[in-house]
Amino acid sequence: MATIWIDGEWHTRETARVSVFDHGLLYGDGVFEGIRAYSGKVFKLADHLDRLYDSAHAVLLEIPMEKAAFRKVIEEAVARSGLQDAYIRPIVTRGVGDLGVDPRKCPRASMIVIVDEIKIWPAERLEQGLSVITAGTPIPHRESLSPRVKSLNYLSHCMAKLEANVAGADEALMLDAGGHVAEGTGQNIFVVKGDTVRTPPLHAGILAGITRKVVMELAAEAGHQVREEIINRFDIYTADEAFLTGTASEIAPIARYDGRKIGCGKAGPKTRDLMQRFREYVRR
Ligand code: PMP
Repeated sequence: MATIWIDGEWHTRETARVSVFDHGLLYGDGVFEGIRAYSGKVFKLADHLDRLYDSAHAVLLEIPMEKAAFRKVIEEAVARSGLQDAYIRPIVTRGVGDLGVDPRKCPRASMIVIVDEIKIWPAERLEQGLSVITAGTPIPHRESLSPRVKSLNYLSHCMAKLEANVAGADEALMLDAGGHVAEGTGQNIFVVKGDTVRTPPLHAGILAGITRKVVMELAAEAGHQVREEIINRFDIYTADEAFLTGTASEIAPIARYDGRKIGCGKAGPKTRDLMQRFREYVRR
């Protein structure tokens, strides 16, 4: 059952409400995380909390609770939900202010935790592989709103996802200002060529995906050469295999990109091996 905590109070889906004067709603002024629980245990919670507090610090947003206390709230929310496999969405908004942009009008940040069921790609869809396009909407420039901040400002990502919907594709990849491939609307990108597994470097201006980090470790363990390098669309077109990684998507193979068949046109052997390693890792 969906369990929601807002500023110290427990709610259901029906009773959870936020103010229309909250700057998270009015201006997308806030930060969030997407976390999973497997078998009742929260996956990589410390890493997610570090990223949340870093995002808040970067936008000068003071989270009115210590990390350790917030950790307990999140764990209690999962326990109260009764869900073994769950999706967890912590949110910190600038809080309630007035209709002006000025954050000084928001005396206290608002904190929310939502725990709900996780909706995942069906196994046969993953086996087939996803169809992905390049979005015309670029990722925000890292010096405008850094993609390393996981902020509530996801409108560019929503636009890219809409482009995928309009094109009848499953997902979209966003380019950076230089035309390099940055990331998906909620995933990082990897390409496999021979024994080498490549993903764009963080300084390119992408979110430091927690799944990305785990997959890089698993790929190294599997004996691949793992490199953080700029990736262009050509690299994906000509890859042996390509896949997306994210908390919700886990590892999602790409079968087609911009109409080109990628590798064998379904989940390739190295991607399937990494998916298996990932499944074992999260259950450990
Ligand atoms: N990029 C973006 C834009 C995202 O929203 C996400 C999902 N949080 C990711 C990448 C993947 O990050 P993670 O593996 O930490 O979920």
